[in-house]
Amino acid sequence: MVSRRRRKLLLHIAGTTALLAGSPVQGVLRSARAQSEETGLIDDEALRAQILDLDFGRNRRILRELSRVSFGTVKHWRRQKPHNVPVVMPPDAFPIVSDFGSRYTTFGGSRMNLPNPIHTGIDIQAPIGVPIVAMWKGSVAHSFLDKQVGNLVAVNHGRNPRGGQFRSVSTHLSQRFVEKDEEVDVGQIIGTVGTTGVLASGRVPHLHFNLYSKRYPWEGDLQRHNPHSRWRSGPGIVTLFRPTQVASFEDALDIRNTSNAHFLYPIPGKNDLAFFLNKLVSLKEVS
Ligand SMILES: [Zn+2]
Repeated sequence: MVSRRRRKLLLHIAGTTALLAGSPVQGVLRSARAQSEETGLIDDEALRAQILDLDFGRNRRILRELSRVSFGTVKHWRRQKPHNVPVVMPPDAFPIVSDFGSRYTTFGGSRMNLPNPIHTGIDIQAPIGVPIVAMWKGSVAHSFLDKQVGNLVAVNHGRNPRGGQFRSVSTHLSQRFVEKDEEVDVGQIIGTVGTTGVLASGRVPHLHFNLYSKRYPWEGDLQRHNPHSRWRSGPGIVTLFRPTQVASFEDALDIRNTSNAHFLYPIPGKNDLAFFLNKLVSLKEVS
C-alpha cells in the first residue's frame, strides 16, 4: 500500500530523474525508485542523506545539475508587476513561479475558483530539501505542522520605534530546524523546501513565502506586505543572502527603523547552495 504522500514523492522523483539524465544525483534517485517499486515505500530521509552524501563541494557538475532541476511548467510570474514594481532576479536565484498579487497558481492554472483568488505571498520553486534561510535576524513566532499549509515557520523581525513589526512566514516546508521563541540570525537555515500541507498540492515543490507588517500596534492584525517593496538592494531588486557578505549586512541596517527595513530572499542562490547543503547535515529537525 503506497500512501498518498509516498505516491506524490514517487511522481516527484520520476520527474527529477528525467531531468537529471546521466548525473550522479540521478543514480541515487534511480536506486530509490527501484527500492520503492519493491517495497512500495520510499525512505525520503535516507534519500536526502544519500544526496547530501554526494560531494557537492568538489563536484561542480552535481551542483550544476541540481540547480537545473525544475518541476512543473509555470512561468506566469514574468508578466506580473506587483504594485507596478518591475522585478529583477539574480541569475542564480531559484525562480518565483507565482508572484505576489498573481491570479495564477504555481501550477499555471487560474486562481479564480480558489478561496483566495489573489496570491498574497510569493511561491519560490526549488527541489525538495533545498535550505530556506531567515530573511533577517529575529525571533521565531511559530513553528508547527499545519494540515493546510504544512510545516510552517514564522519569524518576527523586530519592531519599529512605534511598536509595529515585520513578520516572515514560510510554509510547505519538508523540515523545520527552529523552535518557537528561538532567536535566529540572518541567513540561518530555518527549514527546507517541501510539499507538506493540502494547499501545496504536492506536484511542484515550492516555498510559499509571506511578508507581514504592522506599522502601529493599534492597527490590529498584521497586514500582508509585498516582499518586492522590501528587498535589501531596493524595490523589485531581489537580493540573495551571500555567505561572504554577512558582515556588510550586519553593519548596514537598523531594523528598528521601518524606512530601513530591507530584507533578503529566503532561499540561497544556486551558486551558494554547496555552502548551505554542507551546513544542513549537522542541523537537527524539530518535530
Ligand atoms: Zn503560494
